[in-house]
Amino acid sequence: MVWSILFFVGFGDALNRDADGIVQARCFIATMADKTASALSKDEILRYSRHLILPEVGMEGQLKLKQAKVLCIGAGGLGSPVALYLAAAGAGTLGIVDFDIVDLTNLQRQVIHSTADVGRNKLDSAAETIAGINPNVEVRKFATRLTSANALDIVRDFDIVVDGTDNFATRYLVNDACVLTGKPNVYGSIFRFEGQASVFATRQGPCYRCLYPEPPPPGVVPSCAEGGVLGILPGLVGLIQATETVKLILGTGEPLVGRLLLVDALAMRFRELKLKKNPDCPACGTHPTVTELIDYEQFCGIRGQETAPAATIGDMTPEELKQRKDAGDDLFVLDVREPHEYEICNLGGHLIPLKDLPSRVGELDKSKEIVVHCKMGGRSAKAVDFLQQQGFSRVHNLVGGINAWADRVDPSMPKY
Ligand SMILES: [Zn+2]
Repeated sequence: MVWSILFFVGFGDALNRDADGIVQARCFIATMADKTASALSKDEILRYSRHLILPEVGMEGQLKLKQAKVLCIGAGGLGSPVALYLAAAGAGTLGIVDFDIVDLTNLQRQVIHSTADVGRNKLDSAAETIAGINPNVEVRKFATRLTSANALDIVRDFDIVVDGTDNFATRYLVNDACVLTGKPNVYGSIFRFEGQASVFATRQGPCYRCLYPEPPPPGVVPSCAEGGVLGILPGLVGLIQATETVKLILGTGEPLVGRLLLVDALAMRFRELKLKKNPDCPACGTHPTVTELIDYEQFCGIRGQETAPAATIGDMTPEELKQRKDAGDDLFVLDVREPHEYEICNLGGHLIPLKDLPSRVGELDKSKEIVVHCKMGGRSAKAVDFLQQQGFSRVHNLVGGINAWADRVDPSMPKY
């Protein structure tokens, strides 16, 4: 969110009171309404009775839901509530793109998966839960990472795309694929206690690139694995996305087109920023330069998800550290995580959070051999760089951080 606030300071002209986007969303809705209706079975009529008695939904709306084909990118934090509620609401076809395996750390927020699903692939787990909620839903499984090579083919078969991605490269890819194929992109993103939602890429409306022309520099915006996320938050934001999706399908209400909804769960405040289409937008502007999908990993500098940095001189593996400790070598272990992380698990190291390192560097002895670690190796790499600049010559970065130590040296150590 820090990045987004920076953006709003720098690119304020993207925001105004223009309502063009709403007009074009209604065009899209009209197109969907042209589809010929089929019929609901007796069981379906009973199942959807609370919808059918709403004049804004009724039989016509429920049939639109039944005919709708919605693509969820990701069956994670955002994808879980989106898929669960769209299935319950009677969306006829749900496509899900995910290549991941259910992990124990997912269950705090990815409510479509259960404890028994740990180790299974997310697609199978999600499809099974959906079938349990509503067997009338056809689930189309795409067990792949969404890439420039497959995105257009996958997106083309659906009416609406719901972006539940967790990294910038895929988010730009989803945006561009939606703009190129003319599919509305129901956007959501989350971090710590804050979230955003909007509807992009409708015919005349702004797209994600109108809001964020450039990705943030690599490493500036931490991932949820690094920065954490309140487990309930993706539920909150995902249900805003599900609501917007249903409204687009029904053609009712005022969609979040041309508006960015900001959610602050700690203050429990919802703010709204008006967004205007940028005429110079490379994707949806007057003279678009994005006429085909590009290399989004390269565009975003590196990947979006947290991965350990490549090995460099001064790196130490968890196995090497274990050997050196066992041999009785005099190593000074410096832990650059936060105190609340130290409480979860630690190697008995000296704790100086990365942000405090410049002011507390005097606590360290330049004559000692120092091994720096964090959770996964990213922050400690920065600390090693800093210490080397300060004249520390014998500093190592513990590759993969304390999580790698837990994986490879001490399985009894808690991972987080
Ligand atoms: Zn745009």
